[in-house]
Amino acid sequence: RELPGDPRSDTIPREVLHSCYSKVSPSAKVDNPKLVAWSDSVADLLDLDHKEFERPEFPQFFSGATPLVGSSPYAQCYGGHQFGVWAGQLGDGRAITLGEVVNSRGERWELQLKGSGKTPYSRFADGLAVLRSSIREFLCSEAMHGLGIPTTRALCLVETGKSVVRDMFYEYVMISSFSIMHIMICGNAKEEPGAIVCRVAPSFLRFGSYQIHASRGKEDLEIVRRLADYTIQLNFHHLQPVVTAWAVEVAERTAFLIARWQGVGFTHGVLNTDNMSVLGLTIDYGPFGFLDAFDPSFTPNTTDLPGKRYCFANQPDVGLWNIAQFTGPLSSAELISQDEANYVMERYGTKFMDEYQSIMTKKLGLTKYNKQLISKLLNNLAVDKVDYTNFFRLLSNVKADPGIPENELLVPLKAALLDIGKERKEAWISWVQTYVEELVESGIPDEERKAAMNTVNPKYIPRNYLCQSAIDAAEQGDYEEVRRLLKVMQHPYDEQPGMEKYARLPPAWAYRPGVCMLSCSS
Ligand code: AMP
Ligand code: MG
Ligand code: MG
Repeated sequence: RELPGDPRSDTIPREVLHSCYSKVSPSAKVDNPKLVAWSDSVADLLDLDHKEFERPEFPQFFSGATPLVGSSPYAQCYGGHQFGVWAGQLGDGRAITLGEVVNSRGERWELQLKGSGKTPYSRFADGLAVLRSSIREFLCSEAMHGLGIPTTRALCLVETGKSVVRDMFYEYVMISSFSIMHIMICGNAKEEPGAIVCRVAPSFLRFGSYQIHASRGKEDLEIVRRLADYTIQLNFHHLQPVVTAWAVEVAERTAFLIARWQGVGFTHGVLNTDNMSVLGLTIDYGPFGFLDAFDPSFTPNTTDLPGKRYCFANQPDVGLWNIAQFTGPLSSAELISQDEANYVMERYGTKFMDEYQSIMTKKLGLTKYNKQLISKLLNNLAVDKVDYTNFFRLLSNVKADPGIPENELLVPLKAALLDIGKERKEAWISWVQTYVEELVESGIPDEERKAAMNTVNPKYIPRNYLCQSAIDAAEQGDYEEVRRLLKVMQHPYDEQPGMEKYARLPPAWAYRPGVCMLSCSS
């Protein structure tokens, strides 16, 4: 249904008032654009014949150079809290929705180009994206889907053939109670290849899509109501027209999502409310990172380093804080009461704990939650900086046999515990002893448990260094590594003979300063 929109079709940076979007066409310059990688499984969602990827026109369409017939491109207006401070209007600064495709199953999928040129929301930036960050977004969206975690998808990745200037600076964020300031240190302009990802999702609405209108005063509360109504009709039609039920579902989906992130060791890095999907999808892959060595305070975002607001262990709390910001506009628009808003937050907490306990129990291959066993394990992993992914994958080799001699207890875990000192061995033996007792009590046969554990403990995750190797090759014009990595990450729970090198720990070069330092807007 028709929503308020800014009818002007230009890209002059401005406050777009009383509007949910602005009509704007892709404008990134291209020169012989090339298809770097594509996802057959996303093509299937769109009923798109895989042969389309081979057509020479394909990169022209998906770089935005040739308009798609029937498309109606626009950029969304949204706001957000960045690092805990209200940042006002943000909007799609470099994302342009081409339109929606309704497939043969009646599902509605929105197609969006990221890096396709300026929009009215671009503020001081160029509306473009570089190959390195686009490869990361493309690979990780599809890897998340492979892991079974809700996410926006990526149809394809196109190199524009034009370069983009980026400062290889270190970016720090200073936050006072009034404002948020980005401080750039050590600017060093560099030309990088430009690229565009085509993202796909049932909707790209974010918490900030509702916040922005409530922030603009009483007059715009009607927009909050209409947008809520629109969202429920389009994406939550099983609930219509009850707004509280919708808000509860948003909270529960968010809780589910973050519990699943904790399960695989994913750290988003920029959990601002403009990066929180109202569908509970992982959205906006910027300075994300998967845990290698287990470290609760890990943050992949160099901008977040001083406060570590968005570090791995804080994500569940940040989710709740963000839900509170989401219920704010709904309360202001009198769509839900204060009591209902409190109930929504309560549901977040309950759902998170249920999901988290369930996922951790499954990771251990047990049938009932054992808080002490899990917290002792996480403590051990942190003290000894053990690789989170490889440890859990190996754990399924431990046998439910109470007769194993003490000196053999750690044998199945050896590959993950190589670096532990003698003085730490005792702590690990004691943990494995208790674990084996639990296994015996559960009564599940070893092979059955191993198979079940291997469906929740991935072997392959898109570690930063793997993405970086694919980026280095692609920047030299060789796209094969991106494509190979995509194939491996599409089946992260399968043993893939010959692909074991993709399950290895980061090599020494990955730890060198600057190699994997990541910030938001590249
Ligand atoms: P993020 O931190 O990635 O969520 O981005 C915050 C805001 O900055 C959003 O409004 C983005 O669309 C915008 N943005 C990020 N990078 C660019 C860019 N290169 N050009 C224009 N806008 C951008
Ligand atoms: Mg964003
Ligand atoms: Mg971003």
